[in-house]
Amino acid sequence: MTDAEPENLSRFHVLVAGGGNAGLCAAITAARSGVSVCVVEAAPRAWRGGNTRHTRNMRVAHEEGNGILTGPYPVDEYMDDLMRVTDGQTNLELAELTINASQELWDFLAEQGVHYQPSLGGTLSLGRTNAFFLGGGRSMLNALYRTAESLGVTFFYDTKVVSLDIENGFFESCEVVSQWQSDQPETRKLEARAFIAAAGGFEANIEWLKEAWGPAAENFLIRGTPYNRGAVLKQLLNAGVASVGDAKQCHAVAIDGRAPKFDGGIVTRLDCVPFGVVLNANGQRFYDEGEDFWPKRYAIWGRLIAAQPDQVGHVIIDSKSIELFMPSVFPPLQADSLEQLAVEMGIDSTAVSQTVNQFNQACRGSNFDHTVHDDCHTEALEPPKSHWARPIDTPPYYAYTLRPGITFTYLGVKVDKDARMIMHNGSTSGNLFAAGEIMAGNVLGQGYLAGIGMTIGSVFGRIAGSTAAAIVRN
Ligand SMILES: Cc1cc2nc3c(=O)[nH]c(=O)nc-3n(C[C@H](O)[C@H](O)[C@H](O)COP(=O)(O)OP(=O)(O)OC[C@H]3O[C@@H](n4cnc5c(N)ncnc54)[C@H](O)[C@@H]3O)c2cc1C
Repeated sequence: MTDAEPENLSRFHVLVAGGGNAGLCAAITAARSGVSVCVVEAAPRAWRGGNTRHTRNMRVAHEEGNGILTGPYPVDEYMDDLMRVTDGQTNLELAELTINASQELWDFLAEQGVHYQPSLGGTLSLGRTNAFFLGGGRSMLNALYRTAESLGVTFFYDTKVVSLDIENGFFESCEVVSQWQSDQPETRKLEARAFIAAAGGFEANIEWLKEAWGPAAENFLIRGTPYNRGAVLKQLLNAGVASVGDAKQCHAVAIDGRAPKFDGGIVTRLDCVPFGVVLNANGQRFYDEGEDFWPKRYAIWGRLIAAQPDQVGHVIIDSKSIELFMPSVFPPLQADSLEQLAVEMGIDSTAVSQTVNQFNQACRGSNFDHTVHDDCHTEALEPPKSHWARPIDTPPYYAYTLRPGITFTYLGVKVDKDARMIMHNGSTSGNLFAAGEIMAGNVLGQGYLAGIGMTIGSVFGRIAGSTAAAIVRN
């Protein structure tokens, strides 16, 4: 047996739970160090890769543009951006580490077969700061899987880690259940000398979300994989690993209310809020739709809608704005009068007409320009609309129903700069490591910076893979 070969298929040097970006970066790095690695992935092969499948880009610091990235994005600017969105709610040491190490990710991923493409136009304007994957996250993942396979990593698909045997901060083994034949689940034990948790957050576990959000969570839609149910996270917390983050903190955006319960991905996002008004189920406005540019505000609308009655919002625009945002997958509701539109939306037409009329009468300014903070605002209206406020008066009128779309949760396990988990009593665990969503709350106490989810996964995946391999070799 060479160092890289498993003694058998139940004992490995390093066991990785979860086969998304974080797990794959960890597995590749550990395998390159010459230790045997297995990845246990809950989804069947065709659905492997969790939320990473849905991604398009990763935020990386760099000193100059490179033909695809359009200009420099220095470490200090990245750090300032992170401090702004988190309002300082971050572990500074780990945040600095993440951002410094992000400078190596372009080359690291390219070495694993990942290709890049220029940023597409669109509403988020990330061409300078974010590396876009050619073919999106799925193609990026396929490259990582091919590389990992070529390095001899063993994959168990359709196999969930269901329990962990951890004694005083030392992983000994875990129980996994394979669903290869749907009527006959197969349970067995896998042993390893180091364990890397890369099994995502608990966003697909509605019962757990309800513990934090109450019954409102029943109305949330989950933008990503149904497999991130937090089973590994729960086991780790039960085994005495310290938690980080708040169960209610998550990335949540407003998405089309007709999106599927799980896995709707990025196409269900709607970017028309700044061009119209958003009403709740009672026909009332509840927040400034033109507070700032949409890329800076889209991530607060999931929470805003989660706080409304029945967790629903209705955005109304008119024909002046229908061409100004990315087209929606599902066509909007359409009517020639606001009253008729309200009937189609299923809310009280008197309330809708009153709210829109009040809004129309409060609109001031005439230089509408959605590329700048223009002078179109409301006067003496509560809540105000600070920019891009134009009367909604030109039929046909359009409406979309909005629901909170949960991207991922932030409650996770506490780690140090070696990606090693910290125990509840403050001691360092023996051989427990974490990467990706399951520990992202160390860096993201609140808020979000587009593309940093993948950065955290790759940076800590590499660190976890390398430290786990090092303790095995020692
Ligand atoms: C629609 C959408 C778009 C996004 N776009 C971007 C983007 O462009 N850029 C960006 O930075 N971030 C983006 N994100 C966030 C990004 O997806 C995550 O930050 C990142 O993919 C997390 O990687 P991960 O490896 O930690 O988790 P995942 O990629 O979710 O992988 C976790 C894996 O663990 C497996 N698993 C779960 N439980 C178990 C278990 N018990 N046993 C075994 N395996 C288990 C799952 O099947 C899954 O494959 C997006 C998310 C969504 C939903």
